[in-house]
Amino acid sequence: MKSEDGNIEGSVNQNRGFESRDSASSSKRSQPVAGRWFDAHLHVDLYPEEEREPLLSEAFAGGITGVVAVSMHLESSRTNQALASRFPGRVRPAYGFHPEQPLPGEAAIEELLRWIRVRFASGERFVIGEVGLPYYTRTESEAAGRPFDEMPYIVLLEKFIKLASDTQLPIVLHAVYEDADKSLDLLEKHRVRQAHFHWFKGSSATIDRMIKAGYYISITPDVEYEPEIQRLVRAYPIELMMTETDGPWPFEGPFSGERTKPLMVRQVVDKIAELKGLAKEDAELRLWRNAASFYGWV
Ligand SMILES: [Zn+2]
Repeated sequence: MKSEDGNIEGSVNQNRGFESRDSASSSKRSQPVAGRWFDAHLHVDLYPEEEREPLLSEAFAGGITGVVAVSMHLESSRTNQALASRFPGRVRPAYGFHPEQPLPGEAAIEELLRWIRVRFASGERFVIGEVGLPYYTRTESEAAGRPFDEMPYIVLLEKFIKLASDTQLPIVLHAVYEDADKSLDLLEKHRVRQAHFHWFKGSSATIDRMIKAGYYISITPDVEYEPEIQRLVRAYPIELMMTETDGPWPFEGPFSGERTKPLMVRQVVDKIAELKGLAKEDAELRLWRNAASFYGWV
């Protein structure tokens, strides 16, 4: 992968103390491709097994230069670890527990945290995620008149935030609206500097707080048709923005009926350029740099 702005496969990360340990094995493998696109949030393990590697191969052949493979739980983390090892220098795995599901017992949580710490001690390159708070589960439950106890989720989130603080690894958060504020409290408490709120939505007060903290957001393909996401793009600095698909989550509008794939971020980049009044190539370069820098590619 060659570019004048960021030589992914030969570079050493200067921001986060990462060494480019996964670069050597891939430096001679790939040819330069047009485009500089990044899918900063993909659930690759949620695609049928036979589709996963072709999905990634197609993305990289089409100009995607990096994918962050987020996990749902320990088994998912193991799957993503194996997939990442098949695409050195291209896939960064994220290990965690997705909040929109029932919590496992204490022993399972401790097993996951221990597994992540062992990976860290071994020098493996990864980040923490997907972690956060169960906004959709909670609000659906409350709307149906069923009480929802959020506290165990907050306790678990704090464990992951503490882990991110201890390891100085970036953390990927699922936390929208008022849950973003609860997460911000914990991030501040543990002095976490590198946080990425994926598919973020929130009030202008929360947006201001996030910008002041220097936290990143990522924009999904629904920016094509969701006024709320378009307003967010106008309000948030492009310096703190990335692109993602959250695949296999399906989208509507121009993507209706299409299987979600990483290359959809090309349209996200173009829409961000339009909303920000930037040339497409300029937006593409800035968004790519943000993700590559945050996730330790450059
Ligand atoms: Zn996700």
